[in-house]
Amino acid sequence: MPRTAITGLRREAGGSPHTLYLEGPTILGWDLDLEVSATWDGRGGLALPAFTDPHVHLRDPGQPHKETLRSGLAAAAAGGYGTVVSMPNTLPATDQPEAVLSLRVRADALGLCRLIPAAALTLGQEGRVLSDASLLAEAGAALLTDDGRTNEDGGLLRYGLQAAKAAGLLVAVHAEDASLRRGGVMHEGQVSERLGLPGNPAAAETARIARDLEICALTGARLHLQHLSAARSVELVRAAKRAGLPVTCEVTPHHLTLTDTSLLQLDAVYKVAPPLRTEADRQALLAGLRDGTIDCLASDHAPHSPAEKEQDLLAAPFGIANLELVFPLLYSELVLKGAASLEQLTGWLTSGPRKVLGLPECTLEAGQPADLVVMDLASERPVDPERLRTQAKLGPWNGRQLRGWPALTLYQGRVVHG
Ligand SMILES: [Zn+2]
Repeated sequence: MPRTAITGLRREAGGSPHTLYLEGPTILGWDLDLEVSATWDGRGGLALPAFTDPHVHLRDPGQPHKETLRSGLAAAAAGGYGTVVSMPNTLPATDQPEAVLSLRVRADALGLCRLIPAAALTLGQEGRVLSDASLLAEAGAALLTDDGRTNEDGGLLRYGLQAAKAAGLLVAVHAEDASLRRGGVMHEGQVSERLGLPGNPAAAETARIARDLEICALTGARLHLQHLSAARSVELVRAAKRAGLPVTCEVTPHHLTLTDTSLLQLDAVYKVAPPLRTEADRQALLAGLRDGTIDCLASDHAPHSPAEKEQDLLAAPFGIANLELVFPLLYSELVLKGAASLEQLTGWLTSGPRKVLGLPECTLEAGQPADLVVMDLASERPVDPERLRTQAKLGPWNGRQLRGWPALTLYQGRVVHG
């Protein structure tokens, strides 16, 4: 195994520089003074374990005009991620063990980032027949979910949770009541009324979360609520956790940094499901993250082609692509503005999601995987869509000046970004 080293790394912001030694895909240790075959310059950046994302859409197989495994995993590497969980709303839906295995083999061959595919909870994500939880678990599925769709049949979700529990898998839900959401394209409130656009009330999410928490209690099975958007959702989860339910939840960077007033620009880059809500909701999500009610960050990276997002708000598809921007965006908007500490932000991107997914915690100590990111906290530049590795070039932050860009990402001891 080749021995390599990265010089000029800080182990904490403002600390002194150190050298990290690697052997193949494993960390050997710090400041060892060994012979190495290659050296990289960390340029004084902050070394962190590579991030884990429990929720990305890679659109592969089936929608290469939006994203491919290659472009999506390259975007993950550029964002500082070492492990991502892909959603099964592919074409066809990832509902068979062979499909899970195929994604894992193809991602391994690319060597950009670890992919743990989520599998569909129901065949074709049609909400009618459960997929085979035990075979999907054996194939290495991260979890079961029909994300991209909602789970309208509560009874089926109950049996799905029971089957997942028996197979040792958790179930993740996109909690929205389709009948309450109806044709809503944005948060239902003053802004939607002013614009005359169909609204999606917070109750679509909270009513569904209330139901799903009852089903969670009924089954005792692990439930993960995806992308919370409303203040009341945080309250419901806080009470459920206090009552001891085995529930976890996530929040996205866009729900933490944007509100429905962005829709006044009538630009579909802000169209996302669940929708961007009010400042009070945004503040409640932040508070929930800080007090541990919300377990982790999830990008919900949802790429669409520029032509699709250039359509008007009624026609354009839902989704924001953001994998490469999560850290600089939240470092700029939360840490530098005093809403969160650097330690909190890194925890929400590393130990938080790994705990949710049941993965071992990663550190930068000897014997750990050499999956790491070096953050240049001083680097400041505007978001340049041409520099992004994702195919989804149209996003809410294009041109925005952000600070704290990933300078170097290593996956299994090899440089995959920088
Ligand atoms: Zn979703």
